Amino acid sequence: MKTSMICKGCWSQLHVPVVIRGPLAIPFRALGLGISRMHPNLCTLCETQFAKAKKAKQITVRVSVLFADVRGYTTLSEVLENPAIARLLSSFYERCASVIWERDGLINKLIGDAMLALFNFPLVREDHVRQAVQSGVELQRACAGIKASLGLSGQELAIGVGVGIHTGDVLLGEVGEFCRDFTAVGSVVNLASRLQGAAEAGEVLVTEEVYREVADLFPAAEARSYHLKGVEHPVSAYSLRA
Ligand SMILES: [Zn+2]
Repeated sequence: MKTSMICKGCWSQLHVPVVIRGPLAIPFRALGLGISRMHPNLCTLCETQFAKAKKAKQITVRVSVLFADVRGYTTLSEVLENPAIARLLSSFYERCASVIWERDGLINKLIGDAMLALFNFPLVREDHVRQAVQSGVELQRACAGIKASLGLSGQELAIGVGVGIHTGDVLLGEVGEFCRDFTAVGSVVNLASRLQGAAEAGEVLVTEEVYREVADLFPAAEARSYHLKGVEHPVSAYSLRA
C-alpha cells in the first residue's frame, strides 16, 4: 500500500501535519510520536489524543465495524505440527491487515483470535460500508489462497474465517482507567461481534443496514433470521460469499 509522510488521521481530523516518515519525522519521534500499529498511515497520537483534542473522554462516530476470526483451529492443531499453524495464522493476520489498511480501515484490537476493524475513523470515507464489506470478502479469498499455498485446501480441514459486519454510531475513547488507547464500544460493536460468532467459515454475515449499501454487488443474497447470544430480538442478516 501507499505510505504517507504525514499522519492522515491527524490531517483529516485536526488539520495538523504530524510527520511520521522521513527526516522531518525526527523531532516528532523525539516527542514520542511514532507510527501507529493500528494503521501504517496513522500516528500514535491518533490512538490516545482524539478524545482529548475534542475535549471529551469519549466521542461518538459513525463507522462500519468488522470482526473476523479463524475457525477450525482445534481440528487444525490435530493435523498440523505447531510451526505450521503458527505460519498459517501469522500469514493470515498479515494478509488481513493489509486488506483492511488498503481500504482505510483501522485495526482497533485483537481480541483472542478475533480481529476488530473500524472503517471511517479517523480516515474518513463516505463509502466506508462498502469498503468494510469488500474487505470481508477479500479476507475470505486471502484465507482460501493461504490454505491452497500450504496444501490445505482439502475438505477434511474445515478451517476458514468467519466475518461479521454492522454499521452505525459507536463510542470511541478511553475505556476504564487502564486502557489509554482508544477502544470502540456500544451496541453496534456487540452486534458485529455476535454476527461474527454466528458466521460459518467462509461466510461474511452483515446486517440489513450494511446490506442496503451493497445490494447491487450481491443481488442474490437472502435475509435470514438469527437468534444471537445476548441479543434480545431475532436479527435479520445476509450471508455474503466471495
Ligand atoms: Zn495522527
